[in-house]
Amino acid sequence: MNKQRKRKCPQCMISAFFIKNDAGDRRLVYVLEDGSIIAKYAEESLDGFDLSEVFCLGCSWHGSEKRLKR
Ligand SMILES: [Zn+2]
Repeated sequence: MNKQRKRKCPQCMISAFFIKNDAGDRRLVYVLEDGSIIAKYAEESLDGFDLSEVFCLGCSWHGSEKRLKR
């Protein structure tokens, strides 16, 4: 299991996000301290998904993972 802390939403401070692909599919992800985006469910591939914009599950915030709280 990865021991890195997860980054949080700057608005509601939860650490659960999703990303999308061109087809509108969603993948649940976490963003680690070093900025890496990992699938919540390890068996799910993030291939083809847009890593440049993450969407918060708890509020309307979305944007670059660089803007998340450490
Ligand atoms: Zn939020």
